[in-house]
Amino acid sequence: MKAEHRRLFDGFDPDQYLIRENLSFASLTSFRTGGTAAFAVSPKTPEAFGKLICRLTERGTDYLLLGHGTNVLAPDEGYTGVLVLTDQLNELKITENVLSAQAGVLLHTAAIAAQKAALSGLEFAYGIPGSVGGGLCMNAGAFEHSLGELDLRILSCDPAGRLLTLSCADCDFSYRDSIFLQKGYFALACEFHLKPGDADAIKAQMDAYLERRKQTQPLEYPSAGSFFKRPKGHFAGRLIEDAGLKGVRVGAAQVSEKHAGFLINLGGATTKDVTDLAALVQARVKEHSGVTLEREVRYLSDHD
Ligand SMILES: Cc1cc2nc3c(=O)[nH]c(=O)nc-3n(C[C@H](O)[C@H](O)[C@H](O)COP(=O)(O)OP(=O)(O)OC[C@H]3O[C@@H](n4cnc5c(N)ncnc54)[C@H](O)[C@@H]3O)c2cc1C
Repeated sequence: MKAEHRRLFDGFDPDQYLIRENLSFASLTSFRTGGTAAFAVSPKTPEAFGKLICRLTERGTDYLLLGHGTNVLAPDEGYTGVLVLTDQLNELKITENVLSAQAGVLLHTAAIAAQKAALSGLEFAYGIPGSVGGGLCMNAGAFEHSLGELDLRILSCDPAGRLLTLSCADCDFSYRDSIFLQKGYFALACEFHLKPGDADAIKAQMDAYLERRKQTQPLEYPSAGSFFKRPKGHFAGRLIEDAGLKGVRVGAAQVSEKHAGFLINLGGATTKDVTDLAALVQARVKEHSGVTLEREVRYLSDHD
C-alpha cells in the first residue's frame, strides 16, 4: 500500500475498513468495461464512512463513490484516487412496517425481504439491479414509481463527513435526480416506511414486473439499463429507433436490437466504444428529431 494511502487511516480502527488494491472496474460495473481501481476502501459502518469522507476532504484527496456499479461507466485508463465502496454496508432488518437497509443492500434484496414480510411499496424496485444508496442517489424508478415517492428516513453524510438524517422532502427528489447528485451528499442507510399488504399479491406484482423486463430488455448483455433519460413528451428508445440507430455499433458497443434505449457491450467493449456510441446516438437523434438526449448513465471519469 502506498504511504499516502496508509496515512489516510492514521488513528482509525483498521477493523472498520476493508481495503483492496488493483480491483478491475470490469468486475465492479454492470457494463463490464474500464481499467483498474488502484485503491478501494469499503467502510463497514456509517460512522466509519463519515470519518473517511471527512479525512479525504480535509486532505484534498481525490475520491469517487461507487455503489453496485449499474449506472456508471468507468475510465479505460483506470483510477488512481481512492475508490469508496458501499459493499460492506449491508445490514437489513424489518421492524413492524419499517424496512431498514444500509446503502450497500441491493434493491432486489430489499424488495424480496419486504414481500416476505407482507409489506408493499417496493415491488417496482424488484429487478432494478442497483444498491439502496445508488437507487436513492439516482431516484431509481420503474413502472411509473420511484424511490422518492416512498415514505423514507435517510441517514446521510455531507461532503464534510457529517452524519445527518434526511426526510424525503429534504432530498429534493425528481426524475432521476436528488440532493445526493446535486450536492454530493451520501446515502448511508434508509428506513422505508411501507404499507402492510398481501404477500401473495405483492409477489405476483413483482413477478409480473420482472417478466416485462425480461420480455423488453436485453438482460443477456452487459449494460447500464436505459442509457438516456426520458425526454419530456418522448421515449428515448423510440427516438433512437426512429433515427434508424437500432443495431448500430462502435467497436463492441451496440445500440440494442431488442430495446434501442439500451447500449450494450457485445463482449470486449471499451468505455470509449460506449461513450463514442452514445455521442453518435445523441448527434443523430438531434439531427433527426431535434430532441437533445441527456445521459442517465454517469461517467466516472468526469466525476459527474
Ligand atoms: C439491466 C439494468 C436495468 C436497469 N433498470 C433500471 C430501472 O428500471 N430504473 C432505474 O432507475 N434504473 C435502472 N437501472 C440503472 C441502475 O440500476 C440504477 O440507477 C441504480 O439505482 C444504480 O444503483 P448502483 O448502486 O448500481 O449505483 P452506481 O452505478 O454504483 O452509482 C450511480 C451513481 O450513484 C452514486 N452513488 C452510489 N451509491 C451512493 C450512495 N450510497 N450515496 C450517494 N451516491 C451514491 C454514484 O457515485 C454514482 O454517481 C438499470 C440498470 C441495468 C444494468
